Amino acid sequence: MTDLATNLKKFQSELEHTNCQLVAVSKTKPLALLQEAYDLGVRVFGENKVQELVDKHEQLPKDIEWHMIGHLQRNKVKYIAPFVALIHAVDSERLLQEINKRSANVDRVTNCLLQIHIAEEETKFGFDEAELRAFMQPETLAKYPNIKLKGLMGMATNTSNEKQVRKEFSGLKKLFESIKAETTALENVDFTELSMGMSNDYKIAMEEGSTMIRIGSSIFGARNYG
Ligand SMILES: *Cc1c(COP(=O)(O)O)cnc(C)c1O
Repeated sequence: MTDLATNLKKFQSELEHTNCQLVAVSKTKPLALLQEAYDLGVRVFGENKVQELVDKHEQLPKDIEWHMIGHLQRNKVKYIAPFVALIHAVDSERLLQEINKRSANVDRVTNCLLQIHIAEEETKFGFDEAELRAFMQPETLAKYPNIKLKGLMGMATNTSNEKQVRKEFSGLKKLFESIKAETTALENVDFTELSMGMSNDYKIAMEEGSTMIRIGSSIFGARNYG
């Protein structure tokens, strides 16, 4: 077996009988490698740059689910609105507004996750809990009929301190459950997904209730950049 096949098999067996799915993060990797993963059964790919996502979508089989996992600029939403399966990192109402508008233009309802700031690092994007609660109001959400809010996404602090990572993920899970319980009656909210965990912290994320792990280097190998 190739390294890719071995790596994929490992994740497939770890995810078997769980409620958690794999998003294969293929950013910076060449088409041939994505095609190889596709041939091994992968159908959900994650990218963090719009141009690369669009190019790969055009050139690979049409039954792939493309996830935008990175920071998304408003002026680029229009390029992915026609096909994107899930946007993981919605971090402002202005961005959501633009996704709603561009989705309406192409007659789609776009699945989105709200990114929550859980890490210590200042630089990471996302809502904090108070902002999220202020935003998750029926009258606000009613303005966005072409959005379906599927849940939350978060990135833990990049640290070897396992206790801290676990605390951040479990806090996010708690917030997810609380918002989920409060929004069951809302038309465009359907909280089923909690996107947390990457190559170096996915095991902790799964233990803390992740439903989507975003794995790049542990599947495709180290990246040269990105
Ligand atoms: C690159 C990236 C990942 C995957 O990172 P790995 O450490 O290679 O698994 C996950 N999530 C986001 C948002 C990313 O940008």
